[in-house]
Amino acid sequence: MKKIGIIEAIDMTNEYSKMLPKDRIQLRKKRLYDLVTYARDNSAFYRDKYTNLPENFTLQNLPITQDHELMADYNAWCTDPNVSLESLQAYIDSWQNNSGKYMGKYHCVTSSGTDGSNITMLYDSNCGKLLSAGYIKHCLPTRSLFIEFIKRGGKLASVYSDGAFFPSVFASMRRHYIPLRRTRSRLFKVQDSTARLSADLGRFKPTLLSGFPSALGRIADERKAGRIKINPICILADGEQLSPQMRQKLNTIFYCNVISSYSCAEAGCIAYECKEHHLHINDDWVIVEPIDIHGQPVAEGVPSDMVLVTNLMNYTTPIIRYALDDRIIMHTTPCSCGNTSPYIEVIGKSIDQVAFNDGQHDIFIPMTDLDEVFASIPEVKRYQILIYPNNHIALRLSGAKGMDKTLAFFKAEKVLRNYLKSIGISTPAITLEKEDPQADPISGKYKTVITM
Ligand SMILES: [Zn+2]
Repeated sequence: MKKIGIIEAIDMTNEYSKMLPKDRIQLRKKRLYDLVTYARDNSAFYRDKYTNLPENFTLQNLPITQDHELMADYNAWCTDPNVSLESLQAYIDSWQNNSGKYMGKYHCVTSSGTDGSNITMLYDSNCGKLLSAGYIKHCLPTRSLFIEFIKRGGKLASVYSDGAFFPSVFASMRRHYIPLRRTRSRLFKVQDSTARLSADLGRFKPTLLSGFPSALGRIADERKAGRIKINPICILADGEQLSPQMRQKLNTIFYCNVISSYSCAEAGCIAYECKEHHLHINDDWVIVEPIDIHGQPVAEGVPSDMVLVTNLMNYTTPIIRYALDDRIIMHTTPCSCGNTSPYIEVIGKSIDQVAFNDGQHDIFIPMTDLDEVFASIPEVKRYQILIYPNNHIALRLSGAKGMDKTLAFFKAEKVLRNYLKSIGISTPAITLEKEDPQADPISGKYKTVITM
């Protein structure tokens, strides 16, 4: 792909949104053809993979790829012959902050590893500009919102970990490519204490605020208590699951538009939420295919077992029909927001379920069910559930309104025991951990349920 500027990237994003469906299909076909041709010509991995590919190939002719085969053959997969996994690993090991680029030209992104995947991606400046253009387009979808954003200072704040993970590196890309002075775009570290985070954000006064929902929840508590006064016009809560309870909390306390997105290291921003809370696929640059366990397509409206993604903008580490563990439901019915791209429901990852045993059978329940059980206990402010073998559940708790965690545990233990009994697990061991709930020390992401 020839080198593009940020204005060109914004124009490309805007033009696509105005195209007729038939023209969009043609453009995606061309982009896929260009990517596959480039990958075959410049990546030994894809040259081998596509040996028997017909000349007029379709998407379905392309074989499925998986993270382990790409990482096992990294130097052959990457299309830049100067890249080596060894030097890349050395760069990641000496990671200082999000401002640098590998070899002076690539933003480096690794998957968090908390979801079982393990891959390192390289994004060039074209990707950075296209992703940044999409961010502005979807967070500020109307002209009036954009004008309001500029009027109120046009400041972008991102609250993520300081590491090589997609949300934080993406925030760093925005600092590089969105045409605002760098002082108007800042990355705040999620690992900082709530007091420090609040003080820093209070001084900065962001107009657009992005971050992990768990971190935004902490900031919302400070806002409610009157210890911080910020009034963003839009909040993008992503990187972790945005629960209905957290959305309601952010909405009520900040009284602004709260949206989410669906993204990953491999495909970048796959979808953004509209005002109807539908996650519309960014199908100008990402192809999404829901599949079943046998790799066959799944019809719209039906939950998939996995999903294949193709990232049409990344020519350095090409992702073509790459399998993700996520389970989705595709929808193509019209949405009243006016965005004609399909939208998806992300049900979760196929690994996002917890196994218990009733003495004879395994009983699987979605992690989100446990989240709901705890959200119904007012004595508990924050919670984290560690699932050990043999139906042993250890709880990390912090009590609401200064309540002692032991008292919060008495209530939580009773409610949880009743719930487990209702699904056939009558003798679980439920214990209280000494430490408070905590984020993953490396990714900064907060998971409410952790299988040990
Ligand atoms: Zn919509």
